[in-house]
Amino acid sequence: MTPDYLICLECESPVYIFEWKDGVVREAICELCGNDDVSQFATEDEYEDLSMDRRFDRSSPPASDE
Ligand SMILES: [Zn+2]
Repeated sequence: MTPDYLICLECESPVYIFEWKDGVVREAICELCGNDDVSQFATEDEYEDLSMDRRFDRSSPPASDE
């Protein structure tokens, strides 16, 4: 089922421009902050989980292979 919107984890805004296929985000772009990294978007449900158990901690740097 395609969600109505995703939440940009960079600026925590709802994002309506995205491509959803087979249960995963294929492409998304946040018009507000320009984020287009699909790993930095969550569905509403995922976002609630993240904020509830606090595994999503903005103060720690995200895992990156840059
Ligand atoms: Zn954003």
